[in-house]
Amino acid sequence: MSPPSEIQLSSAELLDHNFPNHSPRLSFDGDTVDAWQDWRAQLLPELREQLGPFPDEAVPLNPRIVATESSDKITIHKVIYHSRADTPIPAYLSIPKGATAKTPAVLCIHGHVPDGKESVISGDGEFGSPYGRDLAEQGVITLCPDNAGMGERAHPSGGCDFLWRRLNYLGYDLTGYRVYDLMRGVDYLQSLPEVDKTRIGIAGLSGGCWLGIVHAALDERVQAAVLSGYFTTFAQTSWFGHCVCHHPKGIGELCEMPDIAGLIAPRPIFVEWGTEDVSRPVHPAFGMTQRIYRAANANDQITLQEFDAGHLFSGEQSLPWLIQTLSGRNR
Ligand SMILES: [Zn+2]
Repeated sequence: MSPPSEIQLSSAELLDHNFPNHSPRLSFDGDTVDAWQDWRAQLLPELREQLGPFPDEAVPLNPRIVATESSDKITIHKVIYHSRADTPIPAYLSIPKGATAKTPAVLCIHGHVPDGKESVISGDGEFGSPYGRDLAEQGVITLCPDNAGMGERAHPSGGCDFLWRRLNYLGYDLTGYRVYDLMRGVDYLQSLPEVDKTRIGIAGLSGGCWLGIVHAALDERVQAAVLSGYFTTFAQTSWFGHCVCHHPKGIGELCEMPDIAGLIAPRPIFVEWGTEDVSRPVHPAFGMTQRIYRAANANDQITLQEFDAGHLFSGEQSLPWLIQTLSGRNR
């Protein structure tokens, strides 16, 4: 039997009327330093709780270099280190030729692509700059790990949704799980004699931008961030069907994506967006985060470049900015 045609039964469509009036509980709504500090002190622990659990103690990284290749400018090591006792992380560590102690380092977070870390080292240009290689060739040490469920960490018969279900069964959030791996990547960079522990940045495109926003928000060791191609709102992306990878359970009750980015303040961020990338709009997200930076008296620490292209990492302005910022000449 068919229902009367005038009755709407589609569950997703029935939620439409909730959309216009939905307001996350801890979206920033202030203008002063005091308001910013109070808001930050409330949101940061709640966000950590929402994305957890996180391990109480870090296991030994036990890094092992399994392959090495060199070019004129850089040496690329394939390394495997441990995030958790049962979690080996494959990554590319790129070291500029002639690098000495106290070299800046950048954790390069790949996007939502099946080949994972390969895309930021040897990408064919489809997504713009392979920033893991480009930064290294300009004198910065880079670490490009595979995110959980992608690259060499993919499951042969399942995508990220397969991993999401297994983690959910165990009580984990996929974003938090991935961000913890990124924090261990910073641990690894800080363990290297060539790296200046106080000059560590991140760069990420697309899904790597999303993870970079969360990572930088939760990890104050990240001194500067380039956030490309997914600086947007949950309302404009997840509501319309972007992957569950970018939408932790219950996050829309707590805050919006630009609020998470605002937790990075007053540390500097550079946002870039191709204006043809209409399904990941940077507006109004950028203005929402800029308001938080303004309240934190850090309006000069947030930058936006819009460029005429689609969903890709430009790097034209952001990579020089990142190198200069980490080198301290811009502080
Ligand atoms: Zn996904």
